[in-house]
Amino acid sequence: MTIELINTGTELLLGDTINTNAAWIGQRMAALGLNVARQTIVPDGEVIKDAIAEGARRADVLLITGGLGPTNDDVSRESASAVLGLTMHLDESVVEHLLAYFAKRNKVMSDVNKRQAMVPEGAEVLDNPFGTAPGLYIPAACGKGRGLNCAMFLLPGPPRELKPMVEAHVEPRLKQLMPDLANRFTLYQKVTGMGESDIVVHIEKDLEAMAAGGLELGYCLGRGDVDVRLSGQRDVVEAGARLVRERIGDFIVSEDRRIIEEVVVDQLKAAGQTIATAESCTGGELASRLTNVSGASAVFGHGFVTYANEAKAKHLGVDMALIQAHGAVSEEVARAMAEGCLQASGADHALACTGIAGPTGGTEEKPVGTVFVALASRKDCTEVRKLFFPGARDRFKVLTTQAALEMLRRRLAGLAIPG
Ligand code: AMP
Ligand code: MG
Repeated sequence: MTIELINTGTELLLGDTINTNAAWIGQRMAALGLNVARQTIVPDGEVIKDAIAEGARRADVLLITGGLGPTNDDVSRESASAVLGLTMHLDESVVEHLLAYFAKRNKVMSDVNKRQAMVPEGAEVLDNPFGTAPGLYIPAACGKGRGLNCAMFLLPGPPRELKPMVEAHVEPRLKQLMPDLANRFTLYQKVTGMGESDIVVHIEKDLEAMAAGGLELGYCLGRGDVDVRLSGQRDVVEAGARLVRERIGDFIVSEDRRIIEEVVVDQLKAAGQTIATAESCTGGELASRLTNVSGASAVFGHGFVTYANEAKAKHLGVDMALIQAHGAVSEEVARAMAEGCLQASGADHALACTGIAGPTGGTEEKPVGTVFVALASRKDCTEVRKLFFPGARDRFKVLTTQAALEMLRRRLAGLAIPG
């Protein structure tokens, strides 16, 4: 069963409107276990008809967004009808919806809106409680006369109208069209601390063997993590997921799409423990990531940004002599920052980072991208790791904070922190 998506609207091609509908629909379909095989963006006007005609020859289902408005350039209805050879009639129930919609807003409906009540023969009207344009479902059988066999959904462009319509009307119909969909699902295993190519080396051969049994495998690179995506029948996906767990289970952050800061906050809550941060090169990004999580206040009370050496000494009690002896970017100072942060905050755990974000400030011994991350805990020994993330400053910060959160995640999960 192939699904294709057509997004209409000149504004999408001009770059004035970002095509968020495509991303959102892709995610919804993936969650159902369906892939969108192709996505096409076309401007308003005649070309919509061409796109629908092409898509209808290839796909079993076409999802078409936009072009249902009242103006002359909104021609999705007319285009679909023309491709399928269907006549249109004025649907009284839609006229009533339109009249009620305008009356509620103390407005008078203009005649141009009547176009929105035109419905191709055989089509079903999909309610739109959030706008004027109703959606349309044209069953595949409607295209018989033209030798076509493709179901079409015509959907409004505005996301706040589109989303509820997809959830309420499109997804239930797709499930009806594809009875075996009920058994299909998709699992995301979020992996960190391991690059895409390392993951491939560990799992791909065996998972490829499972492809014959219907397992679909995909990877999506995130900010400091990788999603391993497994789709197919539930038992096949579960077998695949088990294999991934066996091979690289310690590197799996979540299987429910939570990002690492969410996982860590949940772990801390469950343990009744707290975290504090002492940041130099990341300038507060670690604290920011933790506090992006709703409910973080239960586990996070103190975040120090100690950019200058004096600040490290004053707020974290780092010995100036230590900084002079080893440099601010050193294992010794990272350790002292984390342990000082633990003392100053009274938290159960403290994470510290100190590094050279660049592009200036690197030396032969400590090139740009060098960073030390330390984790101190009340009931455990301090661990320090030297890492290397050369690249742009923002990327450096993401990877450094990710590595810090990963150290904490592992400690809270009782896993070893790799050397
Ligand atoms: P339309 O129904 O095509 O007239 O679209 C109305 C408005 O919805 C547009 O002006 C955009 O602001 C928005 N819109 C249309 N298509 C998309 C899309 N693919 N993604 C996000 N917003 C969209
Ligand atoms: Mg439009």
